[in-house]
Amino acid sequence: MSNFVFVLDTNKQPLELVAAAQARRLLKLAQAAVYLRYPFTIILKYAVSHPKKQPTQLKIDPGSKTTGLAINRGDQVIWGAELTHRGQQIKNDLESRRALRRNRRNRKTRYRKARFLNRTRAPGWLPPSLESRVKNIVTWVNRIRRYVPITGISQELVKFDLLAMQNPEISGKEYQQGELAGYEVREYLLQKWGRKCAYCGIENVPFEVEHIQPKSKGGSDRVSNLTLACRGCNLAKGNQDIRDFLSKKPDIRSH
Ligand SMILES: [Zn+2]
Repeated sequence: MSNFVFVLDTNKQPLELVAAAQARRLLKLAQAAVYLRYPFTIILKYAVSHPKKQPTQLKIDPGSKTTGLAINRGDQVIWGAELTHRGQQIKNDLESRRALRRNRRNRKTRYRKARFLNRTRAPGWLPPSLESRVKNIVTWVNRIRRYVPITGISQELVKFDLLAMQNPEISGKEYQQGELAGYEVREYLLQKWGRKCAYCGIENVPFEVEHIQPKSKGGSDRVSNLTLACRGCNLAKGNQDIRDFLSKKPDIRSH
C-alpha cells in the first residue's frame, strides 16, 4: 500500500486524496504547498470545484497497544497509520506520583484528618490508561475528518479487546477495577473454554473460576492462568499442581 496524500483546497476544505506521485508533481509545479507534515497534507494554490464525494471509509481497528487507522476507497486501502497508545506509561506515571505522595504524607507527622473512603468516580469512569486510549483515537479521527472527505466510519468491534484478547498477560487485579469487572472475566473464560468444564468437559452446570496453577504453587492471577471448572473438578483438584492433577490426561493438560 502506498499512502495517498491529503489535499485541501484554497479554503482549507478537504478534497479527495491523491496518489503520492501526483502530490509530488503538484508540489514541484508550485501548484500546491505542504500544509502539514503529519498526516502529510498539501494545500492547493488554485481554486477547484468540489466534485461529488467518492465513498471513502475510515476504518478503526482498536488494540491495547496500538490502534490501526485505514482509509478505504472501495476495496482499496489508500492510506494507513498506526496509533501508539500511552497506556503503560500513564500507569507508571500515576504509580510513581502515588508513591511520592504517600512518602510525603508519611514524612509529615502532624495530625492529619483521615482521608480515605472519600473517593468518588463519575459514571462512565475508565481507568486513565483506557481513557487516554479512547481520547487518542477520537482526537485522530477528528483530525483526519478535517483533512479527508470521509463518508463513513467503521470500527472493528472486538468484545474483549479492552482487556484480554490483545493483552492476555493483564493481571486479575486490573479486571476487578471499573465497570468491566468480574462479569467480563467470566464471559471471556466461558468463550475461551467453550462453556465446558476445562477438566471433565461437562456443560450446563454452574462453573467456578479456577486457577490452573494454584496460587500456593506459584500460579498467578493473570487471566492466562484462570479457567472454569465444575464444582466436582474444582474440589477434586484442590491445591494440586496442574501436572499432578492431570497426569493421567495428557491431552487435556496440554489444552
Ligand atoms: Zn468438571
